[in-house]
Parts: sequence; C-alpha cells; structure tokens
Amino acid sequence: MAPTGNGAMSAITTIRPALVGRLNERQVLRVIQARGPLSRAEVARESGLSPPTVSKAVAALLKSGLLEEADATETARGRPAPRLRLASSSAQVLGVAIDGGHCEVVSAGLDGELHADLVAISTPASYPALLDAIEAAARQLMGRSRVTTLGLGVSLPGLVDYRKGCGVLSPNLPITNGRRPAADLAERLGIECTLLQESHALCLAEREYGLARGMDDFAMLDVGTGVGLGVMSGGRLVTGHSGLAGEVGHITVVADDGRPCGCGNRGCLETEVSDHALAERASEKLGRSVDVDEVIDLLKAGTVDLSAELRAAVKYLAVGVAAVLNLFNPATLFIHSRLFETDPGLFDEVVRQARARTLPPAFADTRIVPAKGSKRQGAVAGIVRLLTDAVAQDV
Ligand SMILES: [Zn+2]
Repeated sequence: MAPTGNGAMSAITTIRPALVGRLNERQVLRVIQARGPLSRAEVARESGLSPPTVSKAVAALLKSGLLEEADATETARGRPAPRLRLASSSAQVLGVAIDGGHCEVVSAGLDGELHADLVAISTPASYPALLDAIEAAARQLMGRSRVTTLGLGVSLPGLVDYRKGCGVLSPNLPITNGRRPAADLAERLGIECTLLQESHALCLAEREYGLARGMDDFAMLDVGTGVGLGVMSGGRLVTGHSGLAGEVGHITVVADDGRPCGCGNRGCLETEVSDHALAERASEKLGRSVDVDEVIDLLKAGTVDLSAELRAAVKYLAVGVAAVLNLFNPATLFIHSRLFETDPGLFDEVVRQARARTLPPAFADTRIVPAKGSKRQGAVAGIVRLLTDAVAQDV
C-alpha cells in the first residue's frame, strides 16, 4: 500500500530500494507468466530490465518458491541456459469448488495446470463437517513428497462479502451463510487461503487459462445449481460495494405464481433455468426424483423426452442473456451451462432467441461463446493471483 500521510509526491521521491526490487520481481513474474518458460536473457529482453536486475529478481523468486528452473536450452554459444517457469513440480496450490450437491478439491502448479488427482466430496449437511471433509481432502493432496503447497483458493456459491471474507446468503447452500471458509481453512492447514464468489471464479479461470486471455471486458453468465454473473470491466471484476453484485439469478421473471426460490422470493430467473430447476422439472415429468447428473446422462442417451423442459430452459436463458447484454454491454459474453453438453444446438438456439430480446446495437456489439473454464480452476486462479500479486503488495 502507498504510505499514508506523506502525500503522493513524497511517496515517489522517497521510494525505497526494497520497493524497487519488489516491482522488478513482479515485472519478471508477469513476463514469465505471459511467455514462459524463458531464460534469464530472454526475461531481460522481454521485460526491458537489465540482466543484473533480472538475476537478482529471479534469485528472490526462486527462493520464495514461485519460480523454478526447467530444462536447459542451448544458447548461441553452446552453453546451456536454464529456463525459468512458474513452479509446477516443486510447488503446488489447491483449489476447492464448494457447491450444493458436491465439492471438488484439486491441486495444480502455479502455471494453473490441474493435476489429475481430483477429490470429490458429497457436500455434508453442516458447516463443521464441510470443513472437516475439505481439510481431509486437502491434506491428502498436500501429502505429495518434495512438493510445497503454497496456498488454497475457495470458490463459494451465493453472495460473498469480500470485505469480511464471508458467505452472506447462499440460497442453495445455507450452511455457509455468515461463515468464512477461507479463513477457517487457513487456520486448519497453515497455508494462505483466499475466497472467491463462484461466478467470479469462473471469470478468473477463463481470463487466466481459458478463452478470455488478454480480455479486459467480458461477462460470464453462469448457469449451475443457481444462476450467477461475473462482469470483468477494464480488467477488474465488478463486485459492487461489498461483493454482492451480479445476482442475475434473482431477477423476477415470473411475476405471478412463480415457483418458490431458495432466496425466499418467487419466480426468480433461477427457478426457471438452472441445474436445480431442470432436475426439478425432469423429476416431475419422470415421476421420480432425479439429480442434474442423471438428467444430463438421460438427455445424452436420448432415452427420455424432455423437449418441453429444454424449450423452457432455453427461453429463460435467452431472457438472462438479453438482460446481461442490455445492462453491461460486454465485448464478449461467455455462457457456462451443462445444457450445451447434451446438444450444442441448444447454444445456437439461446443466441437466436437472445437476439430477439436484446437492443439491436447491444447485441451486434457482443460476441457470445460457450465458456471453457471451471470453478475449481477459478479457485486455483484466485490463489495463484493472490500469491503472485503478494510479491509487490507493499507497494
Ligand atoms: Zn431468488
């Protein structure tokens, strides 16, 4: 943070050498994040820093565990130069995606590459049991020999208050209301932990590792257990005053006689289009209780006729898309929905119907694409960002 009480000018004139060092480290990290693996000479060329400055910054970053040396490449003079990359074999981070039905815990390198060993947990009925289950899964992944675990990111559904670091209201997972899972896990595991609202996690996953790389203005409509929205504007997440922005799922779309919503209202968008809504409709049609995983399997197999239910879901998803385009005018809108797994034609139909419901200039201005990222990857992106940003946090 900038020194307080001195004013901006004195902050510039009294800048400390340690601060400059940290800025250089961050610059080196950014270049390697964007273009790595690179040799020290290549980092110097790409960053515009002098070779001695790069060497000093690299030494500090190797010591902190954020970077590691990878395979050596032959230089013009034939001497092998070690290449630097974000730590992926000597260090790892963990990502936790908490959801109403089940939670997932993964590990990944600092490059964001997920390891194969995903641990899935049925979401317990109480918050202490949830923490116990996540801690056990995390310890299992932390047990890897000669690998340091630097931190853990948590993706949480519902409203998240970033100032307090707690869940506020989760219609589909009320056990986390008023709870601080990242702080609680940090205490139990003794590592840095960070909390992200799940639609924000999806935004980060897409921006860091998916189709939104380099994009500063886009929106993510997230159709999962509920319906959420993340908006990235000018490279920053639009969070609202305390992180509560983006709850498009609780816009009323059926004003009279709508179905009850987990939030206490009726006729919210997510009572018409969400994994939960689809499972509920399918259960009514089939005369037995099915969850969304089974519905997706049935749709893929083509053994049941849920065409009326799908038509309704597509219609209301188009309503949601039009609302986002009219309100936020994003350059790109990503849509995250398992519906498209069952039939890619549904995506085209959503776009077609959304076009009819959106102001023409707003629709013409936006590219709409299916999202590729996942919440577990977003949780990883969140902790990687926290750790790498921390390099210059005192600035
Ligand atoms: Zn609602």
